[in-house]
Amino acid sequence: MEKRPFVTKEKLEEIVREYPTPFHLYDEKGIRENAAKLKEAFAWNEGFREYFAVKATPNPFILKILKDYGCGMDCSSLTELMMSEATGFAGPDIMFSSNNTPAEEYRYADKMGAIINLDDITHIDFLEESIGYIPETISCRYNPGGLFKISTDIMDNPGDAKYGMTTEQIFEAYKILKSKGAKRFGIHAFLASNTVTNEYYPLLAKVLFELAVKLENETGADIAFINLSGGIGIPYRPDQEPNDIHVIGEGVRKVYEEILVPAGMGDVAIYTELGRFMLAPYGALVTTAVHEKHTHKEYVGVDACAVNLMRPAMYGAYHHITVMGKEEAACDHKYDVVGSLCENNDKFAIDRMLPEISRGDLLFIHDTGAHGFAMGYNYNGKLKSAELLLKEDGSVQMIRRAETPEDYFATFDFCDVLKNTEK
Ligand SMILES: *Cc1c(COP(=O)(O)O)cnc(C)c1O
Repeated sequence: MEKRPFVTKEKLEEIVREYPTPFHLYDEKGIRENAAKLKEAFAWNEGFREYFAVKATPNPFILKILKDYGCGMDCSSLTELMMSEATGFAGPDIMFSSNNTPAEEYRYADKMGAIINLDDITHIDFLEESIGYIPETISCRYNPGGLFKISTDIMDNPGDAKYGMTTEQIFEAYKILKSKGAKRFGIHAFLASNTVTNEYYPLLAKVLFELAVKLENETGADIAFINLSGGIGIPYRPDQEPNDIHVIGEGVRKVYEEILVPAGMGDVAIYTELGRFMLAPYGALVTTAVHEKHTHKEYVGVDACAVNLMRPAMYGAYHHITVMGKEEAACDHKYDVVGSLCENNDKFAIDRMLPEISRGDLLFIHDTGAHGFAMGYNYNGKLKSAELLLKEDGSVQMIRRAETPEDYFATFDFCDVLKNTEK
Protein backbone atom coordinates (compact mmCIF):
# COMPACT_ATOMS: atom_id res chain seq x y z
CA MET A 1 0.00 0.00 0.00
CA GLU A 2 1.26 3.45 -0.83
CA LYS A 3 2.26 5.40 2.26
CA ARG A 4 1.06 8.99 2.26
CA PRO A 5 1.75 11.63 4.91
CA PHE A 6 -1.28 12.68 6.98
CA VAL A 7 -0.41 16.32 6.38
CA THR A 8 0.12 18.37 3.22
CA LYS A 9 3.34 20.12 2.31
CA GLU A 10 1.64 23.51 2.61
CA LYS A 11 0.35 22.73 6.10
CA LEU A 12 3.73 21.42 7.17
CA GLU A 13 5.50 24.52 5.91
CA GLU A 14 3.06 26.61 7.93
CA ILE A 15 3.80 24.50 11.03
CA VAL A 16 7.55 24.74 10.50
CA ARG A 17 7.36 28.54 10.45
CA GLU A 18 6.19 28.43 14.06
CA TYR A 19 7.92 25.29 15.34
CA PRO A 20 11.41 24.60 14.02
CA THR A 21 12.29 21.05 12.95
CA PRO A 22 12.85 18.42 14.12
CA PHE A 23 9.60 17.50 15.88
CA HIS A 24 7.19 14.62 16.18
CA LEU A 25 3.77 15.42 14.78
CA TYR A 26 0.68 13.41 15.76
CA ASP A 27 -2.58 13.13 13.84
CA GLU A 28 -5.55 13.42 16.20
CA LYS A 29 -8.06 12.38 13.54
CA GLY A 30 -6.17 9.18 12.75
CA ILE A 31 -5.77 8.32 16.43
CA ARG A 32 -9.48 8.79 17.09
CA GLU A 33 -10.70 6.83 14.06
CA ASN A 34 -8.42 3.92 14.86
CA ALA A 35 -9.35 3.83 18.56
CA ALA A 36 -13.05 3.80 17.61
CA LYS A 37 -12.44 0.90 15.20
CA LEU A 38 -10.70 -1.18 17.86
CA LYS A 39 -13.59 -0.61 20.25
CA GLU A 40 -16.08 -1.69 17.59
CA ALA A 41 -14.09 -4.79 16.65
CA PHE A 42 -14.36 -6.12 20.20
CA ALA A 43 -17.80 -4.74 21.06
CA TRP A 44 -19.11 -8.33 21.10
CA ASN A 45 -17.29 -8.80 24.42
CA GLU A 46 -19.09 -6.98 27.19
CA GLY A 47 -16.07 -6.41 29.40
CA PHE A 48 -13.65 -5.51 26.59
CA ARG A 49 -11.08 -2.88 27.38
CA GLU A 50 -7.92 -1.59 25.75
CA TYR A 51 -5.21 -0.65 28.25
CA PHE A 52 -2.94 1.54 26.15
CA ALA A 53 0.76 0.70 26.60
CA VAL A 54 1.88 4.07 27.96
CA LYS A 55 5.53 3.34 27.18
CA ALA A 56 4.75 3.63 23.45
CA THR A 57 3.73 7.31 23.62
CA PRO A 58 3.95 8.72 27.12
CA ASN A 59 2.24 12.07 26.64
CA PRO A 60 -0.79 13.12 28.73
CA PHE A 61 -2.46 14.81 25.76
CA ILE A 62 -2.35 11.57 23.80
CA LEU A 63 -3.54 9.56 26.81
CA LYS A 64 -6.50 11.94 27.20
CA ILE A 65 -7.60 11.36 23.61
CA LEU A 66 -7.62 7.60 24.22
CA LYS A 67 -9.63 8.11 27.41
CA ASP A 68 -12.53 9.27 25.22
CA TYR A 69 -12.71 5.70 23.83
CA GLY A 70 -12.82 4.05 27.23
CA CYS A 71 -9.17 3.06 27.22
CA GLY A 72 -7.33 2.33 30.42
CA MET A 73 -3.56 2.58 30.78
CA ASP A 74 -0.96 -0.17 30.85
CA CYS A 75 2.00 0.99 32.91
CA SER A 76 5.34 -0.60 33.63
CA SER A 77 7.14 1.98 35.76
CA LEU A 78 6.69 4.54 38.51
CA THR A 79 6.63 7.57 36.22
CA GLU A 80 4.14 5.92 33.88
CA LEU A 81 1.89 5.30 36.86
CA MET A 82 2.31 8.92 37.94
CA MET A 83 1.55 10.26 34.47
CA SER A 84 -1.56 8.11 34.13
CA GLU A 85 -2.76 9.21 37.55
CA ALA A 86 -2.18 12.88 36.71
CA THR A 87 -4.11 12.40 33.46
CA GLY A 88 -7.18 11.19 35.36
CA PHE A 89 -6.85 7.42 35.31
CA ALA A 90 -7.46 5.68 38.61
CA GLY A 91 -7.91 2.24 40.20
CA PRO A 92 -8.83 -0.46 37.70
CA ASP A 93 -8.26 1.98 34.80
CA ILE A 94 -4.65 0.99 35.28
CA MET A 95 -2.91 -2.29 34.51
CA PHE A 96 0.52 -2.56 36.04
CA SER A 97 2.36 -5.00 33.74
CA SER A 98 5.92 -4.61 34.92
CA ASN A 99 8.83 -7.00 35.28
CA ASN A 100 11.82 -7.07 37.62
CA THR A 101 9.67 -4.69 39.64
CA PRO A 102 10.99 -2.55 42.53
CA ALA A 103 9.01 -2.74 45.79
CA GLU A 104 8.38 1.00 45.68
CA GLU A 105 6.51 0.62 42.38
CA TYR A 106 4.31 -2.17 43.71
CA ARG A 107 3.46 0.08 46.66
CA TYR A 108 2.60 3.00 44.37
CA ALA A 109 0.50 0.82 42.05
CA ASP A 110 -1.33 -0.69 45.02
CA LYS A 111 -2.07 2.73 46.54
CA MET A 112 -3.64 3.75 43.24
CA GLY A 113 -5.73 0.57 43.19
CA ALA A 114 -4.15 -0.52 39.90
CA ILE A 115 -4.54 -4.11 38.72
CA ILE A 116 -1.22 -5.83 39.35
CA ASN A 117 0.03 -8.28 36.74
CA LEU A 118 2.74 -10.51 38.22
CA ASP A 119 5.60 -11.38 35.90
CA ASP A 120 6.98 -14.17 38.06
CA ILE A 121 5.96 -16.68 40.72
CA THR A 122 8.60 -15.31 43.13
CA HIS A 123 6.82 -11.95 42.97
CA ILE A 124 3.92 -13.35 44.99
CA ASP A 125 6.01 -13.27 48.15
CA PHE A 126 7.75 -10.11 47.03
CA LEU A 127 4.43 -8.32 46.49
CA GLU A 128 3.11 -9.52 49.83
CA GLU A 129 6.24 -8.22 51.56
CA SER A 130 6.03 -4.94 49.65
CA ILE A 131 2.37 -4.06 50.25
CA GLY A 132 1.48 -6.28 53.19
CA TYR A 133 -1.21 -8.44 51.55
CA ILE A 134 -2.36 -9.99 48.25
CA PRO A 135 -5.00 -7.95 46.40
CA GLU A 136 -8.35 -9.57 45.62
CA THR A 137 -7.91 -8.91 41.90
CA ILE A 138 -4.63 -10.12 40.47
CA SER A 139 -3.17 -11.20 37.14
CA CYS A 140 -0.31 -13.51 36.14
CA ARG A 141 1.84 -13.30 33.06
CA TYR A 142 2.26 -16.53 31.09
CA ASN A 143 5.11 -17.74 28.88
CA PRO A 144 4.69 -21.20 27.37
CA GLY A 145 8.28 -21.21 26.05
CA GLY A 146 9.29 -22.59 22.67
CA LEU A 147 8.58 -20.78 19.42
CA PHE A 148 5.32 -19.06 18.58
CA LYS A 149 4.32 -20.21 15.09
CA ILE A 150 1.55 -19.42 12.68
CA SER A 151 0.68 -21.42 9.58
CA THR A 152 3.37 -19.86 7.43
CA ASP A 153 5.96 -18.51 9.75
CA ILE A 154 7.75 -18.45 13.08
CA MET A 155 6.47 -15.30 14.73
CA ASP A 156 8.63 -14.94 17.78
CA ASN A 157 10.65 -16.81 20.34
CA PRO A 158 8.94 -16.77 23.78
CA GLY A 159 11.42 -19.41 25.00
CA ASP A 160 14.09 -16.75 24.82
CA ALA A 161 12.03 -13.97 26.44
CA LYS A 162 12.58 -12.90 30.05
CA TYR A 163 8.86 -12.41 30.72
CA GLY A 164 6.22 -14.54 32.30
CA MET A 165 5.78 -17.81 34.19
CA THR A 166 5.99 -21.35 32.85
CA THR A 167 2.85 -23.50 32.59
CA GLU A 168 3.70 -25.36 35.77
CA GLN A 169 4.42 -22.12 37.63
CA ILE A 170 1.16 -20.40 36.65
CA PHE A 171 -0.90 -23.30 38.07
CA GLU A 172 1.13 -23.15 41.26
CA ALA A 173 0.87 -19.34 41.38
CA TYR A 174 -2.92 -19.42 41.10
CA LYS A 175 -3.17 -21.93 43.97
CA ILE A 176 -0.89 -19.86 46.20
CA LEU A 177 -2.65 -16.58 45.34
CA LYS A 178 -6.02 -18.14 46.04
CA SER A 179 -4.87 -19.41 49.41
CA LYS A 180 -3.68 -15.89 50.20
CA GLY A 181 -7.06 -14.33 49.49
CA ALA A 182 -7.11 -13.50 45.76
CA LYS A 183 -10.65 -13.71 44.33
CA ARG A 184 -10.60 -12.43 40.72
CA PHE A 185 -7.88 -13.64 38.39
CA GLY A 186 -6.44 -12.54 35.09
CA ILE A 187 -4.12 -14.15 32.56
CA HIS A 188 -1.73 -12.12 30.43
CA ALA A 189 0.70 -13.09 27.68
CA PHE A 190 2.74 -11.21 25.11
CA LEU A 191 4.24 -13.86 22.82
CA ALA A 192 5.04 -12.04 19.56
CA SER A 193 5.83 -8.45 18.72
CA ASN A 194 4.82 -6.31 15.72
CA THR A 195 2.86 -9.06 13.99
CA VAL A 196 1.53 -8.04 10.61
CA THR A 197 -1.05 -10.78 10.18
CA ASN A 198 -4.64 -11.19 11.33
CA GLU A 199 -3.75 -14.63 12.73
CA TYR A 200 -1.72 -13.67 15.82
CA TYR A 201 -4.44 -12.61 18.26
CA PRO A 202 -6.80 -15.52 17.49
CA LEU A 203 -3.92 -18.02 17.88
CA LEU A 204 -2.79 -16.42 21.13
CA ALA A 205 -6.41 -16.34 22.32
CA LYS A 206 -6.71 -20.09 21.68
CA VAL A 207 -3.62 -20.80 23.80
CA LEU A 208 -4.83 -18.55 26.64
CA PHE A 209 -8.49 -19.66 26.55
CA GLU A 210 -7.49 -23.34 26.76
CA LEU A 211 -5.17 -22.50 29.63
CA ALA A 212 -7.93 -20.53 31.34
CA VAL A 213 -10.35 -23.47 31.24
CA LYS A 214 -7.72 -25.77 32.75
CA LEU A 215 -6.74 -23.21 35.37
CA GLU A 216 -10.34 -22.75 36.51
CA ASN A 217 -10.94 -26.49 36.60
CA GLU A 218 -7.77 -27.39 38.46
CA THR A 219 -7.42 -24.48 40.87
CA GLY A 220 -11.00 -23.30 41.27
CA ALA A 221 -9.82 -19.74 40.60
CA ASP A 222 -12.41 -17.37 39.13
CA ILE A 223 -10.95 -16.04 35.89
CA ALA A 224 -12.33 -12.59 35.28
CA PHE A 225 -10.22 -11.38 32.36
CA ILE A 226 -7.78 -12.52 29.71
CA ASN A 227 -5.28 -9.94 28.53
CA LEU A 228 -4.01 -10.47 24.98
CA SER A 229 -1.52 -7.67 25.60
CA GLY A 230 0.34 -5.97 22.73
CA GLY A 231 1.87 -7.30 19.56
CA ILE A 232 -0.54 -6.30 16.80
CA GLY A 233 1.81 -4.59 14.39
CA ILE A 234 1.62 -2.08 11.59
CA PRO A 235 2.96 -2.09 8.02
CA TYR A 236 6.17 -0.06 8.29
CA ARG A 237 6.98 -1.03 4.70
CA PRO A 238 4.80 0.00 1.79
CA ASP A 239 4.62 -3.59 0.49
CA GLN A 240 3.05 -4.90 3.72
CA GLU A 241 -0.66 -5.54 4.05
CA PRO A 242 -2.08 -3.78 7.12
CA ASN A 243 -3.89 -5.75 9.81
CA ASP A 244 -7.67 -5.63 9.72
CA ILE A 245 -8.74 -5.12 13.31
CA HIS A 246 -12.31 -6.15 12.51
CA VAL A 247 -11.10 -9.52 11.17
CA ILE A 248 -8.87 -9.90 14.25
CA GLY A 249 -11.78 -9.14 16.61
CA GLU A 250 -13.98 -11.68 14.82
CA GLY A 251 -11.15 -14.25 14.93
CA VAL A 252 -10.91 -13.88 18.70
CA ARG A 253 -14.70 -14.08 19.02
CA LYS A 254 -14.77 -17.39 17.14
CA VAL A 255 -12.22 -18.96 19.49
CA TYR A 256 -14.05 -17.46 22.50
CA GLU A 257 -17.27 -19.12 21.38
CA GLU A 258 -15.50 -22.42 20.72
CA ILE A 259 -13.60 -22.66 23.98
CA LEU A 260 -14.79 -20.32 26.73
CA VAL A 261 -18.55 -20.27 26.17
CA PRO A 262 -19.00 -24.10 26.27
CA ALA A 263 -16.88 -24.16 29.45
CA GLY A 264 -19.36 -21.82 31.12
CA MET A 265 -16.84 -18.95 30.93
CA GLY A 266 -18.82 -16.68 28.60
CA ASP A 267 -18.47 -13.79 31.05
CA VAL A 268 -14.67 -13.47 30.79
CA ALA A 269 -13.57 -9.97 29.76
CA ILE A 270 -11.01 -9.56 26.97
CA TYR A 271 -8.35 -6.95 27.54
CA THR A 272 -5.71 -5.68 25.15
CA GLU A 273 -2.57 -3.64 25.80
CA LEU A 274 -1.80 -2.31 22.37
CA GLY A 275 0.77 0.41 21.90
CA ARG A 276 2.13 0.31 18.38
CA PHE A 277 -1.22 -0.44 16.76
CA MET A 278 -2.87 2.47 18.57
CA LEU A 279 -0.34 5.17 17.74
CA ALA A 280 2.52 4.28 15.39
CA PRO A 281 0.94 5.28 12.04
CA TYR A 282 -0.46 8.49 13.53
CA GLY A 283 2.87 10.07 14.34
CA ALA A 284 5.76 11.20 12.16
CA LEU A 285 9.19 12.66 12.72
CA VAL A 286 9.51 15.81 10.64
CA THR A 287 13.05 16.85 9.83
CA THR A 288 14.86 19.15 7.40
CA ALA A 289 17.67 18.18 5.03
CA VAL A 290 20.57 20.40 6.09
CA HIS A 291 23.63 18.90 4.40
CA GLU A 292 24.67 16.72 1.49
CA LYS A 293 27.88 14.78 1.31
CA HIS A 294 29.38 12.93 -1.63
CA THR A 295 32.12 10.48 -0.64
CA HIS A 296 32.09 6.69 -0.88
CA LYS A 297 28.32 6.97 -0.65
CA GLU A 298 25.73 9.68 -1.16
CA TYR A 299 24.61 11.16 2.15
CA VAL A 300 21.79 13.46 3.12
CA GLY A 301 22.25 14.97 6.58
CA VAL A 302 19.08 15.91 8.44
CA ASP A 303 18.51 17.94 11.60
CA ALA A 304 17.05 14.96 13.49
CA CYS A 305 19.16 12.05 14.68
CA ALA A 306 18.83 8.72 16.45
CA VAL A 307 18.03 10.41 19.76
CA ASN A 308 14.71 11.46 18.17
CA LEU A 309 14.02 8.02 16.72
CA MET A 310 16.11 5.10 17.84
CA ARG A 311 14.45 2.17 16.07
CA PRO A 312 16.57 2.24 12.88
CA ALA A 313 19.83 2.42 14.85
CA MET A 314 18.70 -0.10 17.45
CA TYR A 315 17.02 -2.78 15.34
CA GLY A 316 17.76 -1.77 11.76
CA ALA A 317 14.04 -0.99 11.61
CA TYR A 318 12.59 0.37 8.39
CA HIS A 319 10.79 3.70 8.52
CA HIS A 320 9.34 4.98 5.27
CA ILE A 321 10.43 8.46 4.22
CA THR A 322 8.45 10.91 2.10
CA VAL A 323 10.26 13.95 0.72
CA MET A 324 7.51 16.55 0.98
CA GLY A 325 6.44 17.94 -2.38
CA LYS A 326 8.33 15.23 -4.28
CA GLU A 327 5.78 12.45 -3.83
CA GLU A 328 5.38 12.03 -7.57
CA ALA A 329 9.07 12.40 -8.47
CA ALA A 330 11.09 9.37 -9.54
CA CYS A 331 13.02 7.61 -6.75
CA ASP A 332 16.25 7.58 -8.75
CA HIS A 333 18.77 8.60 -6.09
CA LYS A 334 20.30 6.18 -3.60
CA TYR A 335 20.95 7.81 -0.23
CA ASP A 336 21.97 7.17 3.33
CA VAL A 337 19.83 9.59 5.35
CA VAL A 338 21.85 10.39 8.45
CA GLY A 339 21.78 12.28 11.73
CA SER A 340 24.67 14.05 13.42
CA LEU A 341 25.59 11.64 16.23
CA CYS A 342 29.16 10.42 16.46
CA GLU A 343 27.85 6.90 15.87
CA ASN A 344 27.84 5.32 12.45
CA ASN A 345 24.50 3.60 13.12
CA ASP A 346 22.83 7.03 13.24
CA LYS A 347 21.10 6.47 9.90
CA PHE A 348 17.37 6.75 9.25
CA ALA A 349 17.80 4.96 5.94
CA ILE A 350 20.62 3.07 4.23
CA ASP A 351 20.84 2.74 0.44
CA ARG A 352 17.28 4.07 0.16
CA MET A 353 15.98 5.00 -3.27
CA LEU A 354 14.46 8.48 -2.97
CA PRO A 355 13.82 11.50 -5.16
CA GLU A 356 16.70 13.93 -5.44
CA ILE A 357 16.91 15.78 -2.11
CA SER A 358 17.94 19.43 -1.84
CA ARG A 359 18.95 21.30 1.26
CA GLY A 360 15.84 22.70 2.92
CA ASP A 361 13.58 19.83 1.85
CA LEU A 362 11.23 18.59 4.56
CA LEU A 363 11.38 14.86 5.22
CA PHE A 364 8.40 13.09 6.74
CA ILE A 365 9.60 9.96 8.51
CA HIS A 366 6.52 7.75 8.86
CA ASP A 367 5.17 5.64 11.70
CA THR A 368 6.97 7.20 14.65
CA GLY A 369 3.83 7.63 16.77
CA ALA A 370 4.72 4.68 19.03
CA HIS A 371 8.15 3.73 20.40
CA GLY A 372 9.46 6.84 18.64
CA PHE A 373 9.90 9.94 20.78
CA ALA A 374 9.50 7.65 23.79
CA MET A 375 12.77 5.81 23.19
CA GLY A 376 14.68 9.09 22.92
CA TYR A 377 17.87 9.73 24.79
CA ASN A 378 20.47 12.44 25.19
CA TYR A 379 23.64 10.97 23.70
CA ASN A 380 26.12 13.53 22.36
CA GLY A 381 24.27 16.05 24.50
CA LYS A 382 21.48 16.12 21.95
CA LEU A 383 18.20 17.57 23.15
CA LYS A 384 14.81 15.94 22.77
CA SER A 385 12.45 17.52 20.27
CA ALA A 386 8.98 18.96 20.73
CA GLU A 387 5.83 16.92 20.20
CA LEU A 388 3.01 18.58 18.26
CA LEU A 389 -0.59 17.54 17.82
CA LEU A 390 -2.34 18.21 14.51
CA LYS A 391 -5.89 18.59 15.75
CA GLU A 392 -9.03 17.57 13.93
CA ASP A 393 -9.84 21.20 13.11
CA GLY A 394 -6.44 21.65 11.44
CA SER A 395 -4.90 23.68 14.24
CA VAL A 396 -1.65 22.63 15.87
CA GLN A 397 -1.02 22.31 19.58
CA MET A 398 2.38 21.90 21.14
CA ILE A 399 1.90 18.99 23.54
CA ARG A 400 5.49 18.88 24.72
CA ARG A 401 8.07 21.60 24.27
CA ALA A 402 11.55 20.86 22.99
CA GLU A 403 14.26 20.42 25.59
CA THR A 404 16.61 23.31 26.20
CA PRO A 405 20.22 23.21 27.44
CA GLU A 406 18.80 24.10 30.89
CA ASP A 407 16.87 20.81 30.89
CA TYR A 408 19.99 18.92 29.90
CA PHE A 409 21.97 20.49 32.73
CA ALA A 410 19.16 20.37 35.29
CA THR A 411 20.48 17.31 37.13
CA PHE A 412 23.80 19.04 37.84
CA ASP A 413 22.19 20.81 40.76
CA PHE A 414 25.49 20.65 42.63
CA CYS A 415 27.46 22.94 40.34
CA ASP A 416 27.20 26.17 38.42
CA VAL A 417 27.87 25.11 34.85
CA LEU A 418 25.10 27.24 33.43
CA LYS A 419 25.73 30.33 35.53
CA ASN A 420 29.33 30.34 34.38
CA THR A 421 28.43 30.02 30.71
CA GLU A 422 25.86 32.77 30.93
CA LYS A 423 28.30 35.43 32.10
C1 LIG B 1 5.38 -2.98 25.16
C2 LIG B 1 4.25 -3.65 25.77
C3 LIG B 1 2.98 -3.58 25.19
C4 LIG B 1 2.71 -2.90 23.89
O1 LIG B 1 3.36 -3.50 22.83
P1 LIG B 1 3.09 -3.01 21.32
O2 LIG B 1 4.06 -3.82 20.52
O3 LIG B 1 3.37 -1.56 21.28
O4 LIG B 1 1.68 -3.32 21.02
C5 LIG B 1 1.94 -4.19 25.87
N1 LIG B 1 2.13 -4.82 27.04
C6 LIG B 1 3.33 -4.92 27.63
C7 LIG B 1 3.46 -5.61 28.92
C8 LIG B 1 4.43 -4.35 27.01
O5 LIG B 1 5.63 -4.45 27.58
